[in-house]
Amino acid sequence: MHDLTRCVQHPEVSQDGFRSLAVPTYRASTIIYEDGESFAARGERGFDGYTYGLHGTPTTRTLEAQLTALHNGVRTVLVPSGQMAVALVFLTFLLPGDHVLVPDSAYGPVRNVCRDYLAPRGIACTLYDPLIGAGIAELIQDRTRLVWVESPGSGTMEVQDIPAIVRAAKARGVLVGCDNTWCTPLLFKPLDHGCDFAAEALTKYVGGHSDLLLGSVTVRDMDLRQRMKEVLRSLGVGVSPDEVALALRGIETMGLRLAHVGRVSESFARRLQEHPLVEQVLHPCLPSCPGHAFWARDIKGSGGVFSIVLRPAAGTMLNPALTAMKVFAIGASWGGTRSLIAPMSVKGERTVKPWTQEGPVLRISIGLEQEEDLWADLERLLAALTPAGAVIAA
Ligand SMILES: *Cc1c(COP(=O)(O)O)cnc(C)c1O
Repeated sequence: MHDLTRCVQHPEVSQDGFRSLAVPTYRASTIIYEDGESFAARGERGFDGYTYGLHGTPTTRTLEAQLTALHNGVRTVLVPSGQMAVALVFLTFLLPGDHVLVPDSAYGPVRNVCRDYLAPRGIACTLYDPLIGAGIAELIQDRTRLVWVESPGSGTMEVQDIPAIVRAAKARGVLVGCDNTWCTPLLFKPLDHGCDFAAEALTKYVGGHSDLLLGSVTVRDMDLRQRMKEVLRSLGVGVSPDEVALALRGIETMGLRLAHVGRVSESFARRLQEHPLVEQVLHPCLPSCPGHAFWARDIKGSGGVFSIVLRPAAGTMLNPALTAMKVFAIGASWGGTRSLIAPMSVKGERTVKPWTQEGPVLRISIGLEQEEDLWADLERLLAALTPAGAVIAA
């Protein structure tokens, strides 16, 4: 054999006695076959077999299996982002003439898919009050195929009565999909509550380090999984094993991270409630949060993300006050080790129930910094927001 051939053929080495706790990163476009017959018959391997790197490698299968187990599901499909996880369910199960129900509090870009992608293709979307509960029955039409839920809602944190919505949808043979990003399967398992799809942005708590983008959809029905995989194959969508390897590392510490940020976020939510510049704290653990009773009944704890509504007077000083913060970073896409803060434009993103509060809304994501440093930074923010000369009784 010549050198050029040696260069492209890696020698096989013994793996005897080697076992690592880490999942190997198997990268592949090509999958090679034992013989011509098995190559010719590769189509029979189905989506659980290996045929082409785009459709999965042992690395991606490991994360799929881990998420499936956490959700008490049957199969999971991985996609390149959380947004794609939501969009995949819509693209797969909605056809021209169909209708989908989406909560007014859904992750903003989900509203855009409805307006910019589905509507021009003849798929109708109705936004509904996230607190509608069993009342969703009145919005279900003969052409409704899917009810989407997201609980708690993005930015405004309404907790939905998912069991009541599932009952109404099932009575009409309508599928229910849940964006479970805030909860993760550790706090809520949508499939156990009757949902057909558990969608998640793994970008957030599974990744956990603000350095990857991935999404997942877990189901119990093999037919639903088959249809989603067919769409991904047609569109040529797959995920990188390197991203997945990072997610496999992140998920190992998710339980500890989530327990910590949940505890700190609850504690901060209670303390912020007392501040005179804070109009309202939107955190599912507080009785004042819309849908709090459903959180207490269905959800096992808290994530690290919540919002505060400031008094209108705080608006003028907001940007310089945010810039003055030293520990919180300003940015979106939460769930990492760094705490984040970001103003939310809720007003333009509510259709069913107009947002009437005048003061700015800030979303806060708690990270892993020392609690006292974070609290001092929030005090710095509130002090900088306090109108000059105002006497504020604490
Ligand atoms: C971030 C987020 C998404 C989108 O995830 P990406 O991976 O950033 O596309 C979807 N739903 C919710 C609730 C999110 O917070």
